[in-house]
Amino acid sequence: MKQTSDSNLFILRAIDFAARKHRDQRRKDEESSPYINHPISVSLSLAEIGGVRDPETLAAAILHDTLEDTVTTPDELEATFGRRVRRIVEEVTDDKSLPKAERKRLQIEHARSLSPEAVLIKLGDKIANVLDVTHSPPADWSLERRKEYLDWAETVIKNCPQTNTALESHFNQVLKEGRRKLLSL
Ligand code: NDP
Ligand code: ZN
Repeated sequence: MKQTSDSNLFILRAIDFAARKHRDQRRKDEESSPYINHPISVSLSLAEIGGVRDPETLAAAILHDTLEDTVTTPDELEATFGRRVRRIVEEVTDDKSLPKAERKRLQIEHARSLSPEAVLIKLGDKIANVLDVTHSPPADWSLERRKEYLDWAETVIKNCPQTNTALESHFNQVLKEGRRKLLSL
């Protein structure tokens, strides 16, 4: 994947694939925003804030919720995007057969052994979700639950190996602003 045009095509295919897979899904905010805006924003943060240019990492960011939230198999990802993308997406996918509380505990525990590419996606995902919890939270969440989410996201990111200073600083910034806003409500 050395030529720019090949990279562009690869990323466009990832956007097309994710958009089809998430087509009937909405985020949990009051307006039920289209789901696809979330993975696109994660990938954009990696590129714009983190300076990430690796097409496979950017594609994995776009695809990061397909295994967890849609009818997509790891083999399907590998057939379309290759083994490396499959592995990165698998690394950031929770085991949905486990209870929610256990999944959240495991995210904290597994953070320390993530690959650098998976850490980048964790950072982008938590930046997007902390912004959402701050500005467009799930419709039925109490203030307490929103605060707890910020605390949990901070713990997950603290346990990740240091990988990208710009994304880490940005995460800390949105976390600080989120806490300030929630305290003022
Ligand atoms: P969820 O994991 O159910 O929801 C958060 C996830 O939803 C995010 O990580 C994000 O994941 C996705 N999401 C979709 N839309 C939005 C949005 N607008 N804003 C933010 N996130 C969005 O919730 P919790 O993190 O609270 O985890 C559930 C846990 O909370 C359980 O352990 C349960 O026992 C506990 N709980 C706590 C309560 C409380 O009041 N504290 C009440 C009830 C349960 P993604 O990026 O993958 O899409
Ligand atoms: Zn996500």
